Amino acid sequence: GVAIDPAGVIYITDAGGAALRVCRFNNSPDSTVGGTVTTLAGGSSAGLVDGSLERALLNRPAGVAVARDGMIVVADTGNKLVRAVVGENRQQGAPLTSEAITMLRSTAEQMRRAGEPRWPYDPPVRPREIAATFGEIRGLLSSDPAESMGPWFHNGLDVPGGYGETVRLLRAERILRPLSVTSVDTARERIRFPLLGYAHLRVGRHADDREFSDERFIIGRDAAGRVARVRVRRGARFAAGDAIGTLNNQNHVHLIAGPAGAEMNALAALELPNVKDTVAPTIELNGVRLFDREWKEFQSIASTVTAVAERGPKTGPVAVQSDVRIVVQAYDQMDGNAIRRRLGLYRLGYQILNLDGTPVPQFAEPLMTISFENLPDDSAAVPLVYAEGSQAGYTEKTVFAYIITNTVRDREIREDFWRASTLPPGEYIVRVFAEDFFGNRTTRDVTVQVTASANSAGATS
Ligand SMILES: [Zn+2]
Repeated sequence: GVAIDPAGVIYITDAGGAALRVCRFNNSPDSTVGGTVTTLAGGSSAGLVDGSLERALLNRPAGVAVARDGMIVVADTGNKLVRAVVGENRQQGAPLTSEAITMLRSTAEQMRRAGEPRWPYDPPVRPREIAATFGEIRGLLSSDPAESMGPWFHNGLDVPGGYGETVRLLRAERILRPLSVTSVDTARERIRFPLLGYAHLRVGRHADDREFSDERFIIGRDAAGRVARVRVRRGARFAAGDAIGTLNNQNHVHLIAGPAGAEMNALAALELPNVKDTVAPTIELNGVRLFDREWKEFQSIASTVTAVAERGPKTGPVAVQSDVRIVVQAYDQMDGNAIRRRLGLYRLGYQILNLDGTPVPQFAEPLMTISFENLPDDSAAVPLVYAEGSQAGYTEKTVFAYIITNTVRDREIREDFWRASTLPPGEYIVRVFAEDFFGNRTTRDVTVQVTASANSAGATS
């Protein structure tokens, strides 16, 4: 959509860029074409966030109008909302609360009930391997920006299949986007339905690029006969089980559940018959590490010289104080996974116990801080979930190091700490919890010695 305000400023909704852009022309008489295009709101990623222009996110904005009083009104199609850009201290509209946003979105449970129990391949009920889960890091997180790659959140479920295998729709859907098929003729070719997304396909074609005999797919070729465009008419209806394409050389489908910008954990939102996971997550060797605010690692108290001499190197409890970050390096596997396969976890948390195993006050229950029902709206949040060195899909190496003192759930993301110095000095147990989607749980205990911090002892800071 396009709108012009009385001053001649042009507002343009950029659906693909999830942004509201502004065009201003130079008014000086000797300038004929000079002008600027800037982004007024959105643009970093699709999403639903209210707030300042820098913070706000849109999802496929499709129309814009300028009201007589100067208020800019946007049809935010992907979010099914009319949004407004209002000046400060204006009382029109109201910022959305996270509860209101949750109510606007259908839940994974609702989506699951409306879908067909089947896999994206035939036969429909034959279980397949899951090769990657929702919320995993993609790319590499490094303190050296030159080395960093991405990172972003994996927003789907990877289901391997054979090269050229037919991929099928999991529920009845109707194409609503004018351009539903993107990255055509690349490894990332994908099709977007309102509630499902499929990537790594040849949409509407066989492995040899021959077209499906299905007139819903309109394949455009260049002069050399290469596939250049794939269109699906807006409004085209598809039934559960309909063939939508074949697997390309990635040999898996990246399956997305939920609307763009509001993706859900596909394991919760889709019913994959006979999917099975009896394998508990693995917390790696020395996989629990404790850091201070500045990311300096807390160290073990060395054991006595005699003990070292008698039984070799042996470490005592980790000495901690003040604000503690807990980092857990862990991964999951499911039945049927190859040994080398490392999947991301679903839920993580921690609990503080006395040495006799009773919880300390405030930790009567484990504090489950990370939960991947959905994802934070902003991929800039990746470093709040994953610690440095985390990586996947970048080299052969897969490392998931979760910062479990931060809170990442229900689309909220917050840096936080275990405030160790609220406890009397002494020894305690930090118990770490790592769970997969199917409720398999692994714990690991680390003994710590809480020492009085310099601040709490009243020393100068
Ligand atoms: Zn994927």
